[in-house]
Amino acid sequence: MEVLACGHCATAAGARVCVHLTTEDTRDCYRVLTGVATRFDLLCEPCADAEAPELLDACVGCFERAETDAYLGWRGAPEIRRHDRDLGGTWTTWDGLEPRNDRCLAALPDGWLVWTDAGLAVLGPEPRYAAWVRLPEEPPSEWAGRVRGPALHTSADGRFAAAVTDHGRHGAIVDLASGEVTLELDRGDYHPEQTPFPVAFVGSRVVAATDWNRLDAFDPATGRLLTDRDRDGDRSIDYFFGALLPSPSGRRLLADGWVWSPFGVPVVIDCAAWFGGDRYAPEHPRRLAQRAYAWGDPLGWLDDETVVQQRIGDDDEQMIDGVTRYDAVTGRRTGVFAGPAGRMWTHRGLLYVAAEAGLEVWDPADGARVGLLEGFAPIAHHDGAFAELRNDQLRIWSPVG
Ligand SMILES: [Zn+2]
Ligand SMILES: [Zn+2]
Repeated sequence: MEVLACGHCATAAGARVCVHLTTEDTRDCYRVLTGVATRFDLLCEPCADAEAPELLDACVGCFERAETDAYLGWRGAPEIRRHDRDLGGTWTTWDGLEPRNDRCLAALPDGWLVWTDAGLAVLGPEPRYAAWVRLPEEPPSEWAGRVRGPALHTSADGRFAAAVTDHGRHGAIVDLASGEVTLELDRGDYHPEQTPFPVAFVGSRVVAATDWNRLDAFDPATGRLLTDRDRDGDRSIDYFFGALLPSPSGRRLLADGWVWSPFGVPVVIDCAAWFGGDRYAPEHPRRLAQRAYAWGDPLGWLDDETVVQQRIGDDDEQMIDGVTRYDAVTGRRTGVFAGPAGRMWTHRGLLYVAAEAGLEVWDPADGARVGLLEGFAPIAHHDGAFAELRNDQLRIWSPVG
């Protein structure tokens, strides 16, 4: 081990600090991106403004201590890796129907389900109405880009749909075979405007919020409650549930909620434990992050143990576009890379991002974009197929293989 420029004989951080951040003095500083991956140095304000600031190789201890005062935000730009290749794939076009919004198309095993002003219709290849659903009216709401409106989810076997009001209070589970509503959902009136309606089909169950801080599981065929437990008392948690995403096998459930201050706190619930007898598993989830004022960013599962979340940083006002990766078992952050921004799906280890230019494909193993389908704006995904619905046409792209 050598003596580093900071004066310590310690492990090198592999990054630099300005000469004013090596002492025990505390000083606010910027994270200044170097242009190599998402690496950054730490610089005080005068140095960040200077043309040729004096920078020193820091030890891990000096760097981490200085970083606790990195309140000023980011400077510079990250490296965005693009190794685009021809994505190939096949295209199919079917007749479509007008969805109520871009959250109102969902996958079925052999087609797609759309929620129009006239009800729920199966697309593929001929449109056919399957059910009618009307939820209680809720007043319009918009807060920091969070717009109240309808959203549609489907079970993997295609038997059931969840028709809900995102950023709202109400929803319903519909049996698509009979067209009947089997369960009405209500998560109460305590800040539902902050999050999409928490609902997900997990194996043969449907999990949904039944209060701001509570999830329950039901049999979607009958509406029977499967997770009865005390509603009040010491075990309830101060956590506002948000969007729910099951892991590929259904072993775990990711919830994108928040806590007061406010902080966005994505958590992972152990469904295997919950359905295996640990009745309070949703009340002691694994926390992945705590991000000031930031929740509702696109999220996904790369595999049963790896979560990806868009944007890099700990504060809504100090973020860079990209992806943060977490180990869902330990709760640790395991990597970041810059670039992706937009609605996101995961499939076979790749990220599919509906960006402004079109559908981008990113390989998180390299942190690089590997392709772009220009002008294609899908709003739903099923097993590697992506569906765009506009002008009464459903356009589906499937990568080959
Ligand atoms: Zn300085
Ligand atoms: Zn040092």
